[in-house]
Amino acid sequence: MNYVLPHIDKLEPYKSGAMPKDHERAIRIHLNESPYPPSPEVLAALQHTPADILHCYPDPQCTELRQALADLYEVESSQVFCGNGSSELIGLLFRTLIGEQRRVAIPYPSFALYENVAASFQSEVIRMPTAEDFSIDIDQLLACNADAIVLVNPNAPTGLLLPASEVERLARGFDGLVVVDEAYMEFVETDESVIPLIRELPNLLVMRTFSKAYALCGGRVGYVLGNSSLISAFDKGRNSYHLNTLTQRLALAALKDQQYMKSSAAAVRQTRDAFSRQLAELGFTVFPSQTNFVLCTPPADSRLTAFEWTERLMEQEIYVRYFNADRLRDKLRISIGTNEQMDRVITQLKAILNHKE
Ligand SMILES: *Cc1c(COP(=O)(O)O)cnc(C)c1O
Repeated sequence: MNYVLPHIDKLEPYKSGAMPKDHERAIRIHLNESPYPPSPEVLAALQHTPADILHCYPDPQCTELRQALADLYEVESSQVFCGNGSSELIGLLFRTLIGEQRRVAIPYPSFALYENVAASFQSEVIRMPTAEDFSIDIDQLLACNADAIVLVNPNAPTGLLLPASEVERLARGFDGLVVVDEAYMEFVETDESVIPLIRELPNLLVMRTFSKAYALCGGRVGYVLGNSSLISAFDKGRNSYHLNTLTQRLALAALKDQQYMKSSAAAVRQTRDAFSRQLAELGFTVFPSQTNFVLCTPPADSRLTAFEWTERLMEQEIYVRYFNADRLRDKLRISIGTNEQMDRVITQLKAILNHKE
């Protein structure tokens, strides 16, 4: 007797990157984590949190955090919803807005979690293939026959950015729901966010996270901005106490220190550009990234497959991301660490190239 619902039974569990044993020397550049700690304000909030938060339920509305986000983006707090990481928001998106048997178009390749969650809610995914260079064609998306479109911008795992004007053209030209996941937007030099448009467009949702530029992925906080009727759907669908008190406080502290977040993002950008140039000098093909990671193809004459590259690097306790998926099997995704870490990575890549026989 199988007690599991058929559509759940046939799911492949979402594969996150491997978790290295917490080893001093291990370089974790496979999960797009920040190489820097969160703001000192976050550490202070952690230290000054009284233990009595534990015997009281958290604020289920996340009132303060929502208001702080509303102030930052100059919208109403009814246009903001906070979740237990974007992962929870993606679940709520399918549960409350997309739904069973409805069609969602997603460029391919993109963030695989959307396809997994869609399958668990029995929504139908229409993969919209990107061009050879992974660029996304807005006209092709506009012509799709779907109830909703999910666009990750900048895209993951390609790192490519669409200008805000193109995303705007999509949101204005498409009748269905348009969800723009801006998890990496803080790393983009010129802000290409479409958040300001949520005041005007009733079909637009923009998702953000504290996991990347704010260095809070262990705390689990994401947020979504949109028209208040869309946001109220998230409130109706959520669990009663989904964001714990400590996390709410830490996110608030992180948000208040915009200066720190911006300077860590700028440091990541600088390291990324230098690392990308060094990769290219070694013969890697590097996709132009606007994020905290780079997608690259190892040199053809290295005679190693991308998977073998990940194995060789892992022997040196360097963890990079490999995707066993169409159009990505010959590539590596490498998150940007500190300058020192990336120097060690370049040194190891050179050593592997020189011992290829
Ligand atoms: C990392 C990432 C997120 C953030 O996920 P959390 O659940 O908030 O940690 C969201 N979207 C994309 C595309 C990402 O790569």
